[in-house]
Amino acid sequence: MSLETIDIAIIGGGPAGLTAALYASRARARTIVFEQAIPGGQIVTTDWIENYPGFPKGLSGQELGDLMLAQAEEFGAEIRTFATIERIEPVDLDFKILTSDGDEFLARAVIVATGAVPRKLGVPGEAEYTGRGVSWCATCDGALFKDKVVAVVGGGDAAVEEALFLTKFASLVYVIHRRDELRATKCIQERCFANEKIEVKWSRIVKEITGADGRVTGVDLAATNGEPDEHLPLDGVFLFVGIDPASDLVSGMLDLDEAGYIKTDHDGRTAWPGIYAAGDVTDTELKQVVTAAAKGASAAFEALRYIDERVCSI
Ligand SMILES: Cc1cc2nc3c(=O)[nH]c(=O)nc-3n(C[C@H](O)[C@H](O)[C@H](O)COP(=O)(O)OP(=O)(O)OC[C@H]3O[C@@H](n4cnc5c(N)ncnc54)[C@H](O)[C@@H]3O)c2cc1C
Repeated sequence: MSLETIDIAIIGGGPAGLTAALYASRARARTIVFEQAIPGGQIVTTDWIENYPGFPKGLSGQELGDLMLAQAEEFGAEIRTFATIERIEPVDLDFKILTSDGDEFLARAVIVATGAVPRKLGVPGEAEYTGRGVSWCATCDGALFKDKVVAVVGGGDAAVEEALFLTKFASLVYVIHRRDELRATKCIQERCFANEKIEVKWSRIVKEITGADGRVTGVDLAATNGEPDEHLPLDGVFLFVGIDPASDLVSGMLDLDEAGYIKTDHDGRTAWPGIYAAGDVTDTELKQVVTAAAKGASAAFEALRYIDERVCSI
């Protein structure tokens, strides 16, 4: 079977991958984005993005993802959806890219933009009641909790923003946070404290998610400040306790930091010449759409330069 040869293979169709695709295809490089699900990445799971420049009133995560996709396609980037990359194999200076469907491509450079996945709590009941009251996506599942009582676990921007979104449906939203102050940006905190439907459970960790008849019925909470443990009756629980990098694909091939994030230089170069990385899967401090997009652009720029230099040195 002959291998389809492309210039740049981009793995992951989130903000980093789609921006890399825009820059690479606009430079007339033959570019394919491989996305294991639908394009957009994590932002399609959030209702509203109000900190991406150029949209003063904000826009939905889905809308922003669709716009990024349309712009990349406008310049000729090809997007393969439901195409999971399972392996990257070096072949001389090129890379063989293998999909889970058995398709193979030969790329001259690779950009890894596989992003991150929501971190699990690792408590009893979490796996058992996933999809039965336990969720990681308020946008997807919030409407199922009309007039119900739910909890959001976490204290960062994503947790508090999603709690605010859930007040559109739920009668009461607890925010369960292990510390005695939130990590969320101050303006988001102000909205949280002003919302009568939100009650913060300070200094509490979830010990167990309880259920009956296949549905969540509540959470057992332990106090971190010496107060007594308690049980909170609930209809649903949404988990936003951080993210873990989706870097399994390249572990053993690229340098990762202790948390599993791909180590890159300022321009997205990894330890392997010809492989670049961008966005939430990398060791950049700020993990947001604007930084993922910016790093995607840099990675594409460097990948294009790498390909040009290879051609010139022949
Ligand atoms: C609930 C929530 C709310 C948020 N709100 C905001 C906000 O308001 N503002 C903001 O700036 N940021 C926000 N963020 C953060 C923002 O979504 C991320 O920083 C951004 O999406 C990172 O983009 P990325 O392209 O690096 O990775 P991701 O968005 O994670 O995209 C990576 C993509 O790669 C795909 N993929 C992974 N492995 C493979 C593989 N092997 N083969 C093929 N495809 C693969 C995944 O399916 C995914 O689509 C929020 C995040 C969450 C979860």
